[in-house]
Amino acid sequence: MAALSRLAILDTDSEPTYDHITRVARALMQTPIAAVSLVDQDRTWYKSVDGIDLSEMKRRSSFCDTTIRRREPLVVLDALTDKNFADSALVASPPHVRSYVGVPLKLADGFTVGTLCAMDVVPRTFQMGQIKALRELAVCVENEFELRLKASLDPLTGFLGRTAFFSCIEAAQRQVNEGLCATLAILDLDHFKRINDTLGHAVGDEVLRTVAATCSTAFDAHVDIGRLGGEELGLLFSRRTGKAAASQLAGLARRIASLSFDGHPYLRVTASFGVGSLIAGETSLTAPLRRADAALYRAKASGRNQVCVFDEDSDDTKSAPATLPYLRQPRVRDLERIPAPLVGATGSLMV
Ligand code: GH3
Ligand code: MG
Ligand code: MG
Repeated sequence: MAALSRLAILDTDSEPTYDHITRVARALMQTPIAAVSLVDQDRTWYKSVDGIDLSEMKRRSSFCDTTIRRREPLVVLDALTDKNFADSALVASPPHVRSYVGVPLKLADGFTVGTLCAMDVVPRTFQMGQIKALRELAVCVENEFELRLKASLDPLTGFLGRTAFFSCIEAAQRQVNEGLCATLAILDLDHFKRINDTLGHAVGDEVLRTVAATCSTAFDAHVDIGRLGGEELGLLFSRRTGKAAASQLAGLARRIASLSFDGHPYLRVTASFGVGSLIAGETSLTAPLRRADAALYRAKASGRNQVCVFDEDSDDTKSAPATLPYLRQPRVRDLERIPAPLVGATGSLMV
């Protein structure tokens, strides 16, 4: 599910490339229907279907739910005589599919997210050559997926861009609605503007890259990281409470504070973190961001270089600015409170 949300493809408009591939697949397999499917939590959603009008169906009713669990293509010669599929909605009701061949679509990270498949309304066989060619065509779909992932990545940090990260929050919210927990954190570098102003933008970029590299090795696969904008990163912890996420983030804060930078021996950088949990039943995507942002505001106001968890009782949102972090203007009040930067013997900045 996390791999699928990183792809940020569900419920997107049709795209000529995928439509072209399903047209070719249909002609190649000589079937009345061909499709590119993505298997979501409880539905199979079709990015492209050639032959019939179909946008999604219950996951359990689709052949593709079985295909994605396999390495090899799934071939069903007569669904009516196959106990796994005879009751499927696709078989029992229109279009009354009887035969199916589907190739699992795998991302470079190893996760299978969907299928390229062809369906017929009569029982039939498929030639080995046809199945082989369908596999080749599936590689084209996988390449499209990789291009899509690359395009959604932030070039400086290598993390997810805003759209893909928001899609991960959406997916996490669905999991929270089903009883799991998830936590969102915002990382904001402290006094980052001073690094740019004193040492130049290129050094600022290098600091961002180094912090990003540190973040990317700090967590397991259950943490998605996206660049919300500027020097602010979003970290989404699946299946982790605010408290558990905060303790991991405290470790990350220590690692960031101990980073050193080539050519700038006196340069030190710290980060502040705001942590907020996702709440079951919440419909607004920005609500958890607001909670994390409110906690971040408290971390900044309390001296920076620390992790603050959103506190329902003191309700940080009341004292925090109304805008989200990546929309926020510099806070003059804060800047006035910050002591002047320390300049080391070589003239490098100590933050
Ligand atoms: P605070 O501790 O309150 O967060 O202070 P700050 O200086 O980090 O906060 P502020 O939001 O005022 O400054 C963020 C700066 O980040 C402003 C902008 O110049 C810089 N910035 C944003 N994106 C980039 C980037 O891609 N590269 C570099 N080098 N700087 C960036
Ligand atoms: Mg900022
Ligand atoms: Mg900052």
